[in-house]
Amino acid sequence: MTLAGPFSFVLAQDPPIDAELIKKAQAIHERVIILDSHVDIAVANFTGERNYTERLDNQFNLPKMFDGGVSAVFLVVYVGQTTEARDPDAFKRSGYERAYGAAIEKFEAIHRLTKELAPDKIELALTSDDVRRIKAKGKKAALIGVENGYPIGEEIGRVKEFFDRGGRYLSLSHNGHSQLSDSNTGERDGWKWNGLSPLGKQVIAEMNKVGLMIDVSHPSKASMMQTLELSKAPIIASHSAVRALCDVSRNMDDEQLLALKKSGGVMQVVAYSGFIKMPKPDSSERMAALATLRREFNLPEPPPRGQRGNMRLALAQLTAERREEFENKLAVIDKEYPGDPPASVKDLIDHIDYAVKLIGLDHVGITSDFDGGGGITGWNDASETFNVTLELVRRGYTEEQIGKLWGGNLLRVMDEVQRIASELRKTE
Ligand SMILES: [Zn+2]
Repeated sequence: MTLAGPFSFVLAQDPPIDAELIKKAQAIHERVIILDSHVDIAVANFTGERNYTERLDNQFNLPKMFDGGVSAVFLVVYVGQTTEARDPDAFKRSGYERAYGAAIEKFEAIHRLTKELAPDKIELALTSDDVRRIKAKGKKAALIGVENGYPIGEEIGRVKEFFDRGGRYLSLSHNGHSQLSDSNTGERDGWKWNGLSPLGKQVIAEMNKVGLMIDVSHPSKASMMQTLELSKAPIIASHSAVRALCDVSRNMDDEQLLALKKSGGVMQVVAYSGFIKMPKPDSSERMAALATLRREFNLPEPPPRGQRGNMRLALAQLTAERREEFENKLAVIDKEYPGDPPASVKDLIDHIDYAVKLIGLDHVGITSDFDGGGGITGWNDASETFNVTLELVRRGYTEEQIGKLWGGNLLRVMDEVQRIASELRKTE
């Protein structure tokens, strides 16, 4: 059901919500800063021929951001983690230089979007004041997050360089251990550092001094706990969920959440189906039918739970014709042997409710992880963002609380981290 209004949103609520509640939610959605803290980008979508000013069929782009009433977005400079088994020079100078080059390409692409491709629509924000000023002008704010410290290599000076290029948070690892920190994937693969490496500890001190937020969404629990011991500033999880509700290594258990709160930080609850809902296993008939379908279209096995990437990437390789054929056959299987439905906005808000109850409203936020595996029923691209606000209103959250969840808390931490940095530099 599509409703008229400032945002062309699709209602994903069951049972239907009354018109008064929708009106109230729309007014709140327009007034507060709606900030999504983690959205992936592809460098290929920043060219003159193809870019995010168009309604591309991915989950994030400017038309969808305008439709969904999203005020600000952290675009992510993501560099994948390689291993010595895959690249023998992974942790040598040449390996680090390749990663650094990939990171710089993404920084430059984002600057190209705000400076050349769409300066009339989107502007780079470096402070929370920037975000408020840009929203007041009716434009969108782009912020930059860095996912994986691997491209820092062994050059601590790059922490400041990434900040100067506009980066405002950085995670010390992604999936797979880096030279700086263990990753959550160590729960399956074993540990390299038992937390932070000696170099990782130096990088944390440098991040505090520079004013770059430390993101612990991908590093291991031990790494996070050691980070909290060392960091002089609050830390964040830019895209994670509650482990008590969904037991995957990317999520935060209660001990982690309470420690995060103590630091004054914030966890941005992520709309990633595999992290917010434990699916019931498929029936053997459904599994067999899906395996046959995958073989027919030469598609890989689905990745293990909690791992980055999904079938979407493999499907993108198919021609439009083959893709349609695949979708039709999948629809037949879904009808005949239905699987457990994917996560919805309700599951997402269940995680928010849990975290708010455990650590308080000031330490919780929201993010999509669009184009990086995120997306759930009701919030499957930026144009559907209003559904999240609507469900928050339906559950009784006030405008002030919704403003904090939708970016206010994260911007508070961003300011605090920069304030502490300038104090640290003064005392030096
Ligand atoms: Zn991620």
